[in-house]
Amino acid sequence: MTKVLVATDKPFAAIAVKGIREVVEGAGYELALLEKYTDKSQLLDAVKDANAVIIRSDIIDAPVLDAAKELKIVVRAGAGYDNVDLAAATAHNVCVMNTPGQNSNAVAELVFGMLVYAVRNFYNGTSGTELMGKKLGILAYGNVGRNVARIAKGFGMDVYAYDAFCPADVIEKDGVKAVASTADLFKTCQIVSLHIPATAETKGSINFELMSSMPKGAIVVNTARKEVIDEAGLAKMMEERPDFKYITDIKPAIDADLTAKYPDRYFGTPKKMGAQTAEANINAGIAAAKQIVDFLQNGNEKFRVNK
Ligand code: NAD
Repeated sequence: MTKVLVATDKPFAAIAVKGIREVVEGAGYELALLEKYTDKSQLLDAVKDANAVIIRSDIIDAPVLDAAKELKIVVRAGAGYDNVDLAAATAHNVCVMNTPGQNSNAVAELVFGMLVYAVRNFYNGTSGTELMGKKLGILAYGNVGRNVARIAKGFGMDVYAYDAFCPADVIEKDGVKAVASTADLFKTCQIVSLHIPATAETKGSINFELMSSMPKGAIVVNTARKEVIDEAGLAKMMEERPDFKYITDIKPAIDADLTAKYPDRYFGTPKKMGAQTAEANINAGIAAAKQIVDFLQNGNEKFRVNK
């Protein structure tokens, strides 16, 4: 019988597992669960006879793929898939997918939770500022970026965006001003929200030069990936620009240092929590199960990321 394994170090909510089970068993497949595993050997063992695997932030690397002799497809329930070795998956003839869009609203709402916190001086009781009328720059107009734009308009913000692959007219159709480059976005906007993936081009790309070009009272909010920040540049920016705030859902390696030195200008969520909502959890898990069924039954590769 076709076996679908849910391998989640950080488990799905029970209601999401219930939904996944309904989809998988409804297709006549067997569902296996490996949750909160403490050792990689448990994962290596569990994947042995799995035909499909649903993961979250779990690492799928060459050793896992070597052990998974029957594996046809891995679906990352979520957007970012840098935890999967795509080249190794391709070499093993395994299709890798993500579930884009399912957690975008959750992440976008957190951006504003953190932004209000930042402009109100981390709720320390002193007078802050408002978001209305401020220039917000959205770096990458993908699934999360678009949701950020939608919410920003509700706040009455002046919204700008740059995306290396999304044409300006698509951005402008949403009533958002398209700028020509990342550099223009940072120069123009007092607040910049990062929504780029971690790629060879973007890693370390948010550097001192970009951040220091921002207007006075600058804020960078990062709900994307910690790798996109040049941490030495961030440290320099925090030191040289007392008006600058950095708020992040993904702590940099220098988190403890920044927390100690700048408790009123630096904030990192205790754990990455952008996608941690009941809704996102359920949506992404069920979408992953449906994509697996559609792939195994109909060969649908719409969300394949290792083309
Ligand atoms: P997405 O794939 O929908 O959008 C990414 C966008 O980035 C695309 O529009 C693409 O054209 C653009 N892009 C790629 N390279 C670029 C570059 N060099 N310069 C400018 N634009 C570029 O992804 P998404 O779902 O919107 O996710 C965005 C980011 O948020 C990713 O880094 C993802 O890993 C992260 N994320 C974090 C959480 C969390 O829990 N904090 C949850 C979901 C996603």
